[in-house]
Amino acid sequence: MKDETRLVQLGRSGVGFEQPVNLPVYRASTIMSPDLDSYLNRFADGRRYEKVTYGATGTQNARALADAVNQLEHGAGCMVTASGLSAVTMAISAVINTGDHLLMADTVYGPARRFCNDYLGRMGADTTYFAPGISAADLEALIRPNTKLIYLEAPGSLTFEMQDIPAIVALAKSRGILTAMDNTWATPLYFRPLDFGVDISIQAGTKYIAGHSDVIIGMISMGDEALAKRVMDQTMMFGDIPSPDDCFMTLRGMRTMSVRLERQQRSALTVARWLEKRPEVARVLYPPLESDPGHALWKRDFNGAASLFGVVLKSGDYDGLRRMINGLEHFHIGSSWGGFESLVAVNRTPLDRAELTWSDVPFLLRFHVGLEDPDDLLADLEAGLGRLA
Ligand SMILES: *Cc1c(COP(=O)(O)O)cnc(C)c1O
Repeated sequence: MKDETRLVQLGRSGVGFEQPVNLPVYRASTIMSPDLDSYLNRFADGRRYEKVTYGATGTQNARALADAVNQLEHGAGCMVTASGLSAVTMAISAVINTGDHLLMADTVYGPARRFCNDYLGRMGADTTYFAPGISAADLEALIRPNTKLIYLEAPGSLTFEMQDIPAIVALAKSRGILTAMDNTWATPLYFRPLDFGVDISIQAGTKYIAGHSDVIIGMISMGDEALAKRVMDQTMMFGDIPSPDDCFMTLRGMRTMSVRLERQQRSALTVARWLEKRPEVARVLYPPLESDPGHALWKRDFNGAASLFGVVLKSGDYDGLRRMINGLEHFHIGSSWGGFESLVAVNRTPLDRAELTWSDVPFLLRFHVGLEDPDDLLADLEAGLGRLA
Protein backbone atom coordinates (compact mmCIF):
# COMPACT_ATOMS: atom_id res chain seq x y z
CA MET A 1 0.00 0.00 0.00
CA LYS A 2 1.30 3.49 -0.84
CA ASP A 3 1.64 6.18 1.83
CA GLU A 4 -1.22 8.32 0.54
CA THR A 5 -3.58 5.35 0.79
CA ARG A 6 -2.23 4.46 4.21
CA LEU A 7 -2.94 7.98 5.45
CA VAL A 8 -6.58 7.55 4.45
CA GLN A 9 -7.01 3.98 5.73
CA LEU A 10 -5.01 3.70 8.92
CA GLY A 11 -6.44 3.99 12.41
CA ARG A 12 -10.11 3.93 11.33
CA SER A 13 -13.13 2.06 12.68
CA GLY A 14 -14.50 -0.85 10.69
CA VAL A 15 -17.32 -0.47 8.19
CA GLY A 16 -20.91 -0.76 9.38
CA PHE A 17 -24.05 1.18 10.26
CA GLU A 18 -22.81 1.98 13.73
CA GLN A 19 -19.27 2.77 12.60
CA PRO A 20 -18.56 6.40 11.79
CA VAL A 21 -15.74 7.05 9.29
CA ASN A 22 -13.51 8.36 12.08
CA LEU A 23 -12.89 6.35 15.23
CA PRO A 24 -14.92 8.14 17.93
CA VAL A 25 -13.20 9.70 20.93
CA TYR A 26 -13.00 7.18 23.77
CA ARG A 27 -12.55 9.20 26.95
CA ALA A 28 -11.72 6.86 29.79
CA SER A 29 -9.82 6.38 32.94
CA THR A 30 -11.53 3.14 33.92
CA ILE A 31 -12.14 0.13 31.70
CA MET A 32 -14.50 -2.51 33.12
CA SER A 33 -13.61 -6.20 33.05
CA PRO A 34 -16.49 -8.62 32.38
CA ASP A 35 -15.37 -11.14 35.03
CA LEU A 36 -12.69 -11.82 37.60
CA ASP A 37 -10.50 -14.04 35.41
CA SER A 38 -10.24 -11.41 32.72
CA TYR A 39 -9.56 -8.73 35.35
CA LEU A 40 -6.73 -10.65 36.98
CA ASN A 41 -5.26 -11.55 33.56
CA ARG A 42 -5.64 -8.11 32.02
CA PHE A 43 -1.87 -7.63 31.67
CA ALA A 44 -1.06 -11.21 30.64
CA ASP A 45 0.35 -12.10 27.21
CA GLY A 46 1.54 -8.60 26.44
CA ARG A 47 -2.03 -7.32 26.55
CA ARG A 48 -0.88 -4.05 28.12
CA TYR A 49 0.82 -3.18 24.82
CA GLU A 50 -2.19 -3.91 22.65
CA LYS A 51 -5.42 -3.85 24.61
CA VAL A 52 -7.06 -0.99 26.38
CA THR A 53 -6.90 -1.77 30.11
CA TYR A 54 -6.64 1.65 31.76
CA GLY A 55 -6.76 5.21 30.47
CA ALA A 56 -3.23 6.07 31.55
CA THR A 57 -1.75 3.48 29.21
CA GLY A 58 -3.84 4.72 26.30
CA THR A 59 -7.40 4.36 25.12
CA GLN A 60 -8.55 3.20 21.66
CA ASN A 61 -7.54 6.57 20.19
CA ALA A 62 -3.93 6.28 21.34
CA ARG A 63 -3.77 2.69 20.06
CA ALA A 64 -5.22 3.67 16.67
CA LEU A 65 -2.82 6.58 16.25
CA ALA A 66 0.19 4.52 17.35
CA ASP A 67 -0.75 1.78 14.90
CA ALA A 68 -1.09 4.29 12.07
CA VAL A 69 2.27 5.93 12.78
CA ASN A 70 3.93 2.55 13.26
CA GLN A 71 2.82 1.43 9.80
CA LEU A 72 3.90 4.72 8.23
CA GLU A 73 7.31 4.37 9.89
CA HIS A 74 7.63 0.66 8.91
CA GLY A 75 8.07 0.01 12.62
CA ALA A 76 7.83 -3.01 14.92
CA GLY A 77 6.04 -0.93 17.56
CA CYS A 78 5.10 2.68 18.29
CA MET A 79 4.08 4.60 21.39
CA VAL A 80 2.36 7.96 21.40
CA THR A 81 3.42 10.44 24.07
CA ALA A 82 2.13 13.66 25.58
CA SER A 83 4.54 15.88 23.62
CA GLY A 84 7.36 15.76 21.12
CA LEU A 85 9.75 16.62 23.90
CA SER A 86 8.55 13.73 26.07
CA ALA A 87 9.02 11.42 23.06
CA VAL A 88 12.65 12.60 23.03
CA THR A 89 13.21 12.24 26.78
CA MET A 90 11.41 8.89 27.08
CA ALA A 91 13.34 7.42 24.14
CA ILE A 92 16.69 8.50 25.55
CA SER A 93 15.97 7.56 29.16
CA ALA A 94 14.67 4.13 28.10
CA VAL A 95 18.11 3.14 26.86
CA ILE A 96 20.56 5.24 28.93
CA ASN A 97 21.53 4.25 32.48
CA THR A 98 23.81 5.69 35.14
CA GLY A 99 27.41 5.38 33.98
CA ASP A 100 26.47 5.34 30.29
CA HIS A 101 27.68 7.72 27.60
CA LEU A 102 25.80 9.04 24.59
CA LEU A 103 26.85 10.89 21.48
CA MET A 104 24.50 13.61 20.33
CA ALA A 105 24.55 15.81 17.23
CA ASP A 106 25.48 19.36 18.20
CA THR A 107 22.52 20.74 16.24
CA VAL A 108 19.67 18.92 18.00
CA TYR A 109 16.47 20.49 19.25
CA GLY A 110 17.57 22.64 22.24
CA PRO A 111 15.45 21.02 24.98
CA ALA A 112 16.85 17.57 24.05
CA ARG A 113 20.29 18.94 24.82
CA ARG A 114 19.08 20.46 28.12
CA PHE A 115 17.63 17.09 29.13
CA CYS A 116 21.00 15.41 28.54
CA ASN A 117 23.07 18.08 30.26
CA ASP A 118 20.78 18.57 33.23
CA TYR A 119 18.79 15.40 33.96
CA LEU A 120 21.15 12.78 32.53
CA GLY A 121 24.05 14.69 34.03
CA ARG A 122 22.42 14.45 37.48
CA MET A 123 21.76 10.75 36.89
CA GLY A 124 25.44 10.22 36.09
CA ALA A 125 25.33 9.75 32.32
CA ASP A 126 27.64 11.78 30.05
CA THR A 127 26.84 13.37 26.71
CA THR A 128 29.36 14.34 24.04
CA TYR A 129 28.22 16.60 21.20
CA PHE A 130 29.56 16.11 17.70
CA ALA A 131 29.44 18.38 14.64
CA PRO A 132 26.73 17.17 12.23
CA GLY A 133 29.19 16.96 9.34
CA ILE A 134 31.69 14.81 11.26
CA SER A 135 33.39 11.97 9.38
CA ALA A 136 32.72 8.40 10.49
CA ALA A 137 36.37 8.10 11.55
CA ASP A 138 36.20 11.20 13.76
CA LEU A 139 32.91 10.04 15.24
CA GLU A 140 34.38 6.62 15.94
CA ALA A 141 37.17 8.32 17.88
CA LEU A 142 34.50 9.75 20.25
CA ILE A 143 33.05 6.33 21.08
CA ARG A 144 33.84 5.11 24.59
CA PRO A 145 33.47 1.61 26.00
CA ASN A 146 30.26 2.80 27.74
CA THR A 147 28.70 4.58 24.71
CA LYS A 148 25.15 3.26 24.41
CA LEU A 149 23.39 5.65 22.04
CA ILE A 150 24.08 7.92 19.08
CA TYR A 151 21.33 10.52 18.81
CA LEU A 152 20.68 12.23 15.46
CA GLU A 153 18.51 14.94 14.00
CA ALA A 154 18.67 15.91 10.33
CA PRO A 155 18.49 18.56 9.26
CA GLY A 156 19.48 20.18 12.56
CA SER A 157 17.20 22.53 14.50
CA LEU A 158 17.53 26.24 13.58
CA THR A 159 20.59 25.79 11.33
CA PHE A 160 19.52 22.85 9.13
CA GLU A 161 22.80 20.93 8.74
CA MET A 162 22.44 17.45 7.24
CA GLN A 163 24.05 14.29 8.60
CA ASP A 164 25.28 11.19 6.81
CA ILE A 165 22.75 8.87 8.45
CA PRO A 166 23.77 5.63 6.65
CA ALA A 167 27.45 6.14 7.53
CA ILE A 168 26.65 6.86 11.20
CA VAL A 169 24.24 3.91 11.42
CA ALA A 170 26.85 1.57 9.88
CA LEU A 171 29.40 2.71 12.47
CA ALA A 172 26.92 2.34 15.34
CA LYS A 173 25.93 -1.16 14.24
CA SER A 174 29.54 -2.26 13.92
CA ARG A 175 30.11 -1.15 17.51
CA GLY A 176 26.83 -2.47 18.95
CA ILE A 177 25.51 1.03 19.74
CA LEU A 178 21.85 2.02 19.40
CA THR A 179 20.80 4.97 17.25
CA ALA A 180 17.84 7.31 17.68
CA MET A 181 16.75 10.09 15.35
CA ASP A 182 14.44 13.05 15.76
CA ASN A 183 12.75 12.96 12.35
CA THR A 184 10.22 15.74 12.90
CA TRP A 185 11.40 17.85 9.94
CA ALA A 186 11.05 15.20 7.24
CA THR A 187 8.12 13.25 8.73
CA PRO A 188 7.86 9.53 7.85
CA LEU A 189 6.65 10.58 4.38
CA TYR A 190 9.98 12.07 3.35
CA PHE A 191 12.47 10.05 5.39
CA ARG A 192 12.09 6.75 7.21
CA PRO A 193 14.82 6.37 9.82
CA LEU A 194 13.91 2.74 10.55
CA ASP A 195 14.37 1.80 6.87
CA PHE A 196 17.90 3.23 7.16
CA GLY A 197 18.64 1.02 10.16
CA VAL A 198 18.08 3.66 12.86
CA ASP A 199 16.67 1.89 15.94
CA ILE A 200 14.35 4.60 17.29
CA SER A 201 12.46 7.20 15.23
CA ILE A 202 11.06 10.19 17.10
CA GLN A 203 8.34 12.54 15.89
CA ALA A 204 7.03 15.74 17.38
CA GLY A 205 3.54 15.00 16.04
CA THR A 206 2.75 18.54 17.13
CA LYS A 207 4.26 19.73 13.84
CA TYR A 208 3.21 18.34 10.43
CA ILE A 209 1.44 15.18 11.59
CA ALA A 210 -1.22 16.95 13.66
CA GLY A 211 -0.62 19.84 11.30
CA HIS A 212 -3.06 22.47 12.56
CA SER A 213 -1.24 24.24 15.41
CA ASP A 214 -3.69 23.01 18.03
CA VAL A 215 -2.21 19.80 19.45
CA ILE A 216 0.92 18.87 21.42
CA ILE A 217 1.82 15.21 20.89
CA GLY A 218 4.78 12.91 20.21
CA MET A 219 5.51 9.46 18.78
CA ILE A 220 8.35 6.98 19.25
CA SER A 221 8.67 4.14 16.74
CA MET A 222 11.09 1.25 17.02
CA GLY A 223 12.48 -1.12 14.42
CA ASP A 224 12.61 -4.05 16.80
CA GLU A 225 9.92 -5.54 19.02
CA ALA A 226 12.03 -6.01 22.17
CA LEU A 227 13.25 -2.42 21.98
CA ALA A 228 9.68 -1.26 21.32
CA LYS A 229 8.53 -2.94 24.56
CA ARG A 230 11.40 -1.35 26.46
CA VAL A 231 10.41 2.12 25.27
CA MET A 232 6.70 1.49 25.83
CA ASP A 233 7.43 0.29 29.37
CA GLN A 234 9.35 3.49 29.97
CA THR A 235 6.48 5.72 28.80
CA MET A 236 3.96 3.72 30.85
CA MET A 237 6.22 3.84 33.90
CA PHE A 238 6.31 7.63 33.64
CA GLY A 239 2.61 7.92 32.82
CA ASP A 240 3.39 9.71 29.59
CA ILE A 241 0.26 9.57 27.44
CA PRO A 242 -1.66 12.08 25.30
CA SER A 243 -5.39 12.62 25.76
CA PRO A 244 -7.86 10.70 23.58
CA ASP A 245 -9.00 14.03 22.13
CA ASP A 246 -5.48 14.95 21.05
CA CYS A 247 -5.00 11.51 19.49
CA PHE A 248 -8.26 11.98 17.59
CA MET A 249 -7.20 15.42 16.38
CA THR A 250 -3.81 14.09 15.32
CA LEU A 251 -5.27 11.22 13.29
CA ARG A 252 -7.67 13.67 11.70
CA GLY A 253 -4.83 16.04 10.81
CA MET A 254 -2.77 13.17 9.46
CA ARG A 255 -5.34 12.36 6.77
CA THR A 256 -4.25 15.40 4.77
CA MET A 257 -0.56 15.35 5.64
CA SER A 258 0.69 14.33 2.21
CA VAL A 259 -1.23 17.05 0.36
CA ARG A 260 -0.27 19.68 2.91
CA LEU A 261 3.40 18.75 2.77
CA GLU A 262 3.44 18.53 -1.01
CA ARG A 263 1.99 22.01 -1.34
CA GLN A 264 3.98 23.53 1.52
CA GLN A 265 7.32 22.21 0.29
CA ARG A 266 6.62 23.56 -3.20
CA SER A 267 5.80 27.01 -1.82
CA ALA A 268 8.78 26.87 0.56
CA LEU A 269 11.17 26.14 -2.29
CA THR A 270 9.72 29.07 -4.26
CA VAL A 271 10.14 31.39 -1.28
CA ALA A 272 13.61 30.06 -0.40
CA ARG A 273 14.87 30.43 -3.99
CA TRP A 274 13.50 33.96 -4.09
CA LEU A 275 15.10 34.91 -0.78
CA GLU A 276 18.43 33.43 -1.83
CA LYS A 277 18.66 35.93 -4.71
CA ARG A 278 17.85 38.98 -2.61
CA PRO A 279 20.70 41.42 -1.93
CA GLU A 280 19.68 41.72 1.77
CA VAL A 281 20.14 37.96 2.33
CA ALA A 282 23.52 36.38 3.13
CA ARG A 283 22.40 32.74 3.23
CA VAL A 284 19.32 30.55 3.11
CA LEU A 285 19.75 27.38 5.19
CA TYR A 286 17.66 24.77 3.38
CA PRO A 287 19.04 21.43 2.14
CA PRO A 288 16.71 21.28 -0.92
CA LEU A 289 18.59 24.31 -2.35
CA GLU A 290 21.48 23.30 -4.63
CA SER A 291 23.62 25.92 -2.85
CA ASP A 292 23.16 24.26 0.56
CA PRO A 293 26.16 22.27 1.86
CA GLY A 294 23.80 19.43 2.82
CA HIS A 295 22.08 19.26 -0.57
CA ALA A 296 23.82 16.09 -1.81
CA LEU A 297 22.99 14.14 1.37
CA TRP A 298 19.41 15.39 1.36
CA LYS A 299 18.97 14.42 -2.28
CA ARG A 300 20.49 11.00 -1.75
CA ASP A 301 18.46 10.02 1.34
CA PHE A 302 15.27 12.08 1.55
CA ASN A 303 12.12 11.96 -0.62
CA GLY A 304 11.03 15.50 0.08
CA ALA A 305 11.36 18.50 2.35
CA ALA A 306 9.58 20.28 5.15
CA SER A 307 8.57 23.89 4.55
CA LEU A 308 10.92 25.14 7.27
CA PHE A 309 14.24 26.86 6.64
CA GLY A 310 16.71 29.36 8.07
CA VAL A 311 17.73 32.76 6.77
CA VAL A 312 20.82 34.81 7.62
CA LEU A 313 20.55 38.50 6.77
CA LYS A 314 23.57 40.53 5.73
CA SER A 315 22.72 43.32 8.16
CA GLY A 316 22.75 42.73 11.91
CA ASP A 317 20.85 45.95 12.62
CA TYR A 318 18.12 45.28 15.19
CA ASP A 319 15.95 48.30 14.42
CA GLY A 320 15.71 47.30 10.77
CA LEU A 321 14.95 43.70 11.71
CA ARG A 322 12.23 44.80 14.11
CA ARG A 323 10.62 46.95 11.41
CA MET A 324 10.79 44.07 8.97
CA ILE A 325 9.35 41.39 11.27
CA ASN A 326 6.71 43.49 13.05
CA GLY A 327 5.25 44.64 9.75
CA LEU A 328 4.82 41.19 8.20
CA GLU A 329 1.19 40.38 7.47
CA HIS A 330 1.34 36.65 6.76
CA PHE A 331 4.39 35.47 8.70
CA HIS A 332 3.32 35.84 12.33
CA ILE A 333 5.94 35.46 15.05
CA GLY A 334 5.81 32.02 16.66
CA SER A 335 8.07 29.27 17.90
CA SER A 336 6.34 26.23 16.56
CA TRP A 337 5.84 25.08 12.97
CA GLY A 338 4.24 22.36 10.86
CA GLY A 339 0.77 23.91 10.90
CA PHE A 340 -1.19 25.31 7.95
CA GLU A 341 -0.05 28.88 8.54
CA SER A 342 3.18 30.70 7.83
CA LEU A 343 5.38 31.74 10.75
CA VAL A 344 8.65 33.47 11.44
CA ALA A 345 10.92 33.00 14.45
CA VAL A 346 14.03 35.00 15.31
CA ASN A 347 16.78 33.54 17.48
CA ARG A 348 19.63 35.42 19.07
CA THR A 349 23.12 34.03 18.81
CA PRO A 350 25.36 32.60 20.14
CA LEU A 351 23.37 29.38 20.08
CA ASP A 352 23.60 26.97 23.02
CA ARG A 353 25.98 24.58 21.30
CA ALA A 354 29.40 23.09 21.78
CA GLU A 355 30.85 24.02 18.40
CA LEU A 356 28.42 25.58 15.95
CA THR A 357 27.46 28.67 17.92
CA TRP A 358 26.90 30.97 14.91
CA SER A 359 28.35 33.80 16.98
CA ASP A 360 29.48 35.66 13.86
CA VAL A 361 25.88 36.77 13.12
CA PRO A 362 23.59 38.42 15.69
CA PHE A 363 20.30 36.78 14.63
CA LEU A 364 19.08 33.68 12.86
CA LEU A 365 15.70 33.87 11.18
CA ARG A 366 13.51 30.83 10.65
CA PHE A 367 10.59 30.79 8.25
CA HIS A 368 7.77 28.27 8.15
CA VAL A 369 5.82 28.40 4.91
CA GLY A 370 2.13 27.57 5.22
CA LEU A 371 -0.72 27.00 2.80
CA GLU A 372 -1.17 30.64 1.79
CA ASP A 373 -0.66 31.54 -1.86
CA PRO A 374 3.10 31.95 -2.39
CA ASP A 375 2.57 35.22 -4.31
CA ASP A 376 1.08 36.77 -1.17
CA LEU A 377 4.01 35.48 0.87
CA LEU A 378 6.58 36.88 -1.56
CA ALA A 379 4.87 40.28 -1.59
CA ASP A 380 4.89 40.26 2.21
CA LEU A 381 8.60 39.42 2.31
CA GLU A 382 9.48 41.93 -0.38
CA ALA A 383 7.84 44.70 1.63
CA GLY A 384 9.52 43.36 4.77
CA LEU A 385 13.01 43.37 3.30
CA GLY A 386 12.30 46.91 2.10
CA ARG A 387 11.78 47.98 5.74
CA LEU A 388 15.26 46.75 6.73
CA ALA A 389 17.06 49.83 5.40
C1 LIG B 1 8.97 20.99 18.33
C2 LIG B 1 10.02 19.95 18.32
C3 LIG B 1 10.11 19.01 19.33
C4 LIG B 1 9.22 19.05 20.55
O1 LIG B 1 7.87 18.89 20.27
P1 LIG B 1 6.76 19.44 21.31
O2 LIG B 1 5.55 18.69 20.91
O3 LIG B 1 6.69 20.91 21.08
O4 LIG B 1 7.23 19.08 22.67
C5 LIG B 1 11.08 18.04 19.23
N1 LIG B 1 11.93 18.00 18.20
C6 LIG B 1 11.87 18.91 17.21
C7 LIG B 1 12.85 18.83 16.09
C8 LIG B 1 10.93 19.92 17.24
O5 LIG B 1 10.90 20.84 16.28
